[in-house]
Amino acid sequence: MRGVASWGRLSADPHHTIGLHDAAQVASVLAGARVPGLAHGMGRSYGDVCLNPAGLLWLTAGLDRFISFDGTTGRLACEAGVLLRDIQRLALPRGWALPVMPGTQQVTVGGAIANDVHGKNHHRYGTFGDHVLRIRLVRTDGSTLDCGPGLRPKWWAATVGGLGLTGVITEAEIQLRRLTGPWLDTETIPFAGLQEFLGLADESEASWEHSVAWIDCLSGTRARGLFMRASPAGPQTRPEPVPRVLRVPCVPPILLVNRFSLRPFNALYFHRGRMRAGRAVMHQESFHYPLDALLGWNRLYGPAGFFQYQSVVPRRAGAAATEAMLGEIARSGEGSFLAVLKTFGERTPPGMLSFVQPGVTLSLDFPHRGARTLALFERLDAIVAEAGGRLYAAKDARMPRALFEAGYPRLDEFAAFRDPGVSSGLSRRLLRS
Ligand SMILES: Cc1cc2nc3c(=O)[nH]c(=O)nc-3n(C[C@H](O)[C@H](O)[C@H](O)COP(=O)(O)OP(=O)(O)OC[C@H]3O[C@@H](n4cnc5c(N)ncnc54)[C@H](O)[C@@H]3O)c2cc1C
Repeated sequence: MRGVASWGRLSADPHHTIGLHDAAQVASVLAGARVPGLAHGMGRSYGDVCLNPAGLLWLTAGLDRFISFDGTTGRLACEAGVLLRDIQRLALPRGWALPVMPGTQQVTVGGAIANDVHGKNHHRYGTFGDHVLRIRLVRTDGSTLDCGPGLRPKWWAATVGGLGLTGVITEAEIQLRRLTGPWLDTETIPFAGLQEFLGLADESEASWEHSVAWIDCLSGTRARGLFMRASPAGPQTRPEPVPRVLRVPCVPPILLVNRFSLRPFNALYFHRGRMRAGRAVMHQESFHYPLDALLGWNRLYGPAGFFQYQSVVPRRAGAAATEAMLGEIARSGEGSFLAVLKTFGERTPPGMLSFVQPGVTLSLDFPHRGARTLALFERLDAIVAEAGGRLYAAKDARMPRALFEAGYPRLDEFAAFRDPGVSSGLSRRLLRS
């Protein structure tokens, strides 16, 4: 057994691990398991959705082969452990790209499907699952099911966003989109207050492909921030930037993220952003994945680890609920450098348990300071519940069962598709098995 942590590093519980390397062998490996297991990709989920404490993890990173790519249609077939980064490296020079990318490229195709991840362009391209044409799902009874939007659609809807609980995805076929190059036309606009943010978001959805805002989580209901929007820039003659990657070498023994470091950092970040406001051409990696340039940044939160709290609330309640949450956060003095505000468009996601719903989404990291952090979450939960919103399971490590059940009305329907030989920390916490 060995300790495995997820991205939030809240625990490193012992797990039995089995590496999957040969897609043809997966059915027999799963059928031979004597205890419930769980697929584990890059562990880029923050909490226990990708953990199975004291149980078994099937590590999928070894299922990393490309199967086929059609440069005319943009259809790509690959194994489920292939990283989104490697797909982008293959596709971009050929004029194609993944239509939806989360805030890090270091995730597997299986993990992106199982959490039905979203990017900064939901209003234009929906979620990752919207672009998957077919998957192969292996169950612990040894059976193999191919499914897609038009093939066993119920299995499909249960597995996209299905939190790994319907079996192990071994391969997927994905429809890429045309993209002429890695450059983006961007614009940064300082804003003050939620109404101004929502006005910018509404205006940007019509003509910009990506939009996202950074906010100063200590500025309370005034919520000063920087709104960033971007669209593909077309071919450029400028040279590609040389990637510079730094590494956080160790876990500092004390928590460096505190109100004394946070307040000046946020003020500086805002004022620097305001100075640089306006239009610029940026490389897509700098715009989309700035954190990928600092390896192991999750160690900065010290030995106790950290939570991410990501909520979505419907648009009509969006401004009031988000203001209420920011007020609570500012009063508590908790929060982090990474407060992100986005809107999701009016699209229905493909999965029964997909997180995305039309509305306003706020995500924030919180160092784990014990009871006072958990008490703040209870106050935030009450605001989310009252607004008819939900929390993102990919980021969760502690939400109450009642909030999960209220936020995900298709849970009963989903139950029929669960694989009884699969279990996770999150499923035992929120689904009783
Ligand atoms: C810096 C950072 C930024 C992020 N930004 C975003 C964002 O913008 N949008 C967003 O939606 N998410 C975001 N995330 C979350 C991340 O995209 C998801 O948690 C993603 O699912 C992680 O993929 P993974 O390969 O690491 O999977 P893991 O975290 O290892 O697993 C995630 C889930 O997928 C299941 N799974 C993994 N592989 C398979 C498989 N082959 N078959 C079946 N189930 C499988 C696991 O059981 C688990 O339930 C971010 C995470 C980080 C660290």
